Amino acid sequence: MNKLTPVLKPLTLPNGAVLKNRLLMAPMTTCTGFYDGTVTSELVEYYRDRAGSIGTVIVECCFIDRLGPAFPGAIAIDSDDKIPGLKKIADAIKSKGSKAILQIYHGGRMVEPELIGGRTPVAPSAIAAPREGATTPKELTGEEVETMITKFGDAVNRAIKAGFDGVEIHGANTYLIQQFYSQNSNQRTDKWGGDRDKRALFPMEVLEITHKMAKRFADASFIIGYRFSPEELEVPGIRFDDTMYLLEKLAARGLDYVHFSVGQLLRPSIVDTQDPTPLITKFRAMRSETLAKVPVIGVGGVVNKSDAESALEHGFDLVAVGKACIAYPDWADRIINNDHLELYIDSHKREELNIPEPLWRFSLVDAMIRDTSVTGRKYKAGVYQEKVEAEALKLKINVVLDTDRITDIQLVKDDSLDVDFTTTFESLRTRMLVANSPHVDAITGATTQSEALKKAVSRAMTTSNKEHVIDEGGNPQAPQNFDVVVIGSGGAGLAAAIQAHDDGAHVVIIEKMPTIGGNTIKASVGMNAAETRFQKLKGIEDSKDLFYDETLKGGKFKNNPVLLREFVELAPEAIEWLAAKEIELNDITITGGMSIDRTHRPADRSAVGGFLISGLVKNINKREIEVLLETSVSEILFENGAVSGVQVVDEYNDTRILNAKSVIVATGGFSANRNMVVSYRPDLDGFVTTNHAGATGSGIAMLQRLGADTVDMGEIQIHPTVEQTTSYLISEAIRGGGAILVSQAGHRFYNEMETRDKVSAEIIGLPEKSAWIIFDEQVRANNKAADEYIAKGFVLSAPTPQELAVKLNMDPQVLADTLERYNLFVVAKKDEDFGRTTALRHPLNQGPFFAIRIAPGVHHTMGGVTINPDTAVLDAQKQIIPGAWAAGEVVGGIHGANRIGGNAVADIIIFGTLAGRKATAFSKA
Ligand code: ADP
Repeated sequence: MNKLTPVLKPLTLPNGAVLKNRLLMAPMTTCTGFYDGTVTSELVEYYRDRAGSIGTVIVECCFIDRLGPAFPGAIAIDSDDKIPGLKKIADAIKSKGSKAILQIYHGGRMVEPELIGGRTPVAPSAIAAPREGATTPKELTGEEVETMITKFGDAVNRAIKAGFDGVEIHGANTYLIQQFYSQNSNQRTDKWGGDRDKRALFPMEVLEITHKMAKRFADASFIIGYRFSPEELEVPGIRFDDTMYLLEKLAARGLDYVHFSVGQLLRPSIVDTQDPTPLITKFRAMRSETLAKVPVIGVGGVVNKSDAESALEHGFDLVAVGKACIAYPDWADRIINNDHLELYIDSHKREELNIPEPLWRFSLVDAMIRDTSVTGRKYKAGVYQEKVEAEALKLKINVVLDTDRITDIQLVKDDSLDVDFTTTFESLRTRMLVANSPHVDAITGATTQSEALKKAVSRAMTTSNKEHVIDEGGNPQAPQNFDVVVIGSGGAGLAAAIQAHDDGAHVVIIEKMPTIGGNTIKASVGMNAAETRFQKLKGIEDSKDLFYDETLKGGKFKNNPVLLREFVELAPEAIEWLAAKEIELNDITITGGMSIDRTHRPADRSAVGGFLISGLVKNINKREIEVLLETSVSEILFENGAVSGVQVVDEYNDTRILNAKSVIVATGGFSANRNMVVSYRPDLDGFVTTNHAGATGSGIAMLQRLGADTVDMGEIQIHPTVEQTTSYLISEAIRGGGAILVSQAGHRFYNEMETRDKVSAEIIGLPEKSAWIIFDEQVRANNKAADEYIAKGFVLSAPTPQELAVKLNMDPQVLADTLERYNLFVVAKKDEDFGRTTALRHPLNQGPFFAIRIAPGVHHTMGGVTINPDTAVLDAQKQIIPGAWAAGEVVGGIHGANRIGGNAVADIIIFGTLAGRKATAFSKA
């Protein structure tokens, strides 16, 4: 934190009052007064919330006479009964440590008759304002002008009674005071009109009476400021030298500050458009020594600290901040913290930001509201051509985008087009148009082509989004703000993002691969949980304690007991969390190391990974959560002792910063990083891996750079049944469904339902270092995954065991005998050879018979970063790294030395949702 920034330096005003820093909240209309201008409690809270670190709050303009309100919902100081309400505002601001100044005004001819009960507004002269439909006002008599000045005096008196530290005389906005000074609206011939000295008399008298009241009722530190509009466009009208003339006169009488009323700090003349010199520069060049002693406030377009610093560098002494204070009640704290701010308001956050309802609907605020219920991404409407390349397929598509959606996807005509792809294309096109997203399920049997098409559409959208940002005058590489950034689109990342969104976070998912789903999409068997509704429906009696004990035993008692207990306790809720999102895992099977059916899988018994990711992605699309594909997080940013966001590199190699108070690391394990695996386990050199290419452990490395501790890094699971030519994993559900393992010699050699590490060790111990998984038609019929393996072409099959043995280059009789013996054990429910007690489903006696050659492959990295039970990442001293959260395979400790099949999916949903919840709460704290 840089306390030395000039914007935080105190300033002593000419009257001796000290402003603790150079920052002020600008007076802004809220339209939140009662019908008669009394203060509402909403308004009190609005100001209370915005006071504090900011030096001074200038409260919105308050009309001094019942004919003075210039807009609906204006607040008033026209009678003593308004004092208590105003006092509440002053007290609220001062109790937070800021100075409270009240702006006072009269609208004059700018008042609409309907705001004053149909009466005719008053003004210096009976000349209507130069706008359509403006009412011609009634000219104030000389006596009425005198009375008007006393009303300003009464208002000052009331402001003092209400406890304000000062008043700002509103000489701007073409309201009454400006109307008197302007030769356009003041064409009087009495002492209040004529040359500019005479026209200056009214503002001078208002200042005079203000001084008198302050002298009489307040102490010397009562602040008197003056706000002015530097020029008028009208002919004749106020020019900048007229303004300087008036300011000099006012300064000579005594002012504590003058306040420019412009939309942009460095605005040049609006009359002499050839002259680019900022008015502040002219002001400084033209002012006398007397005026130079009066501090000057600049306003307009200040959002970040650099804007405020630039204002001071250009010669302003003080900086008033408008919209940014509405969007960020703690604006000053944020810039002190060097936060980078964007001027927008999350559409869900009106109440949280204490923005009164009428202000919320006011155009100034309305323009800042960003509806986060629709995607943050907007497009430049048009047609974007992209290439689709997948294996032999090479073609082009036109993606037609409207500003917020995909309106069409067309194949560019090509006579050589494969007919099959046309069908795939049509189905995918429909899915993408319905979902308004490229993230839809691939077409079965055309996965690679589907993914290539999805990617092409996604790329077109990214290109168009960048063009949109440029058209809006923005920079596509400019930092973006989120509450929560999720790294990784596997199960943990998607679950975390959904939960974070549902808890109100503005969230984005970053995925380095071209497709969503990570390694989770490959998960096969299911999700373990004990004491679930679905178990009860099936009459399965289970207990969380037993689930705990068996996981602990499977993990060789190395599991982190606190995390494991939490895992077991939250598992049934996670099953329900999915069910509520239409991801029902209501069929139940068993995996190695468990004694009870507690592995939940889809009703059609298909592999859980694809089903899960497809369901989660539908939820992501429904919520319009942004997913950036082929975008990799290269660094997690850390500032002032906490995570502050991430640096990403996208497919075009463009680097960008995404700011966020919470970053959830859900990057999965490191099984596909051979060097990393071998560095912890030299014995695994040369092993294939079942994992997708993205499982490189980058999340672990990034967190380690922030000081994160790791645990169990050498605990790397090899899966016993991996098809070696494709590295395709043969699901445990096949063994859980009744399959057996047989050596090349044709014999069973171990309890197939033992934990993965033990089964793997036995296979490696065989002379061939591989084995055959054998099953029959009944197993196939109950496991959709089997059909997938058959379709992939690595399943051998034959009508009888003997015929199958021939294909396996095995002695037919030996294999037939092995099956017969095993079938006896199934009937007796007792495996006399290897003590298998589970998944003795049915005798393997119905052809056709099937076989797949398998051997172990690197499958899961149990080790990873350390977390606490809230998923907060811990350093070596077991202290949290603020803002860093982790869930899924990137985390170590839960599974100990060996992960039980079905526990990884449970892990990602349980801890993913928890991370989403905790990270969101932290980001809002
Ligand atoms: P889990 O099962 O824990 O959810 P997965 O392996 O299914 O883990 O998903 C992790 C995802 O994270 C993968 O899709 C992977 O490509 C992605 N990923 C890993 N490192 C990065 C990174 N640095 N930036 C973006 N995505 C990453």
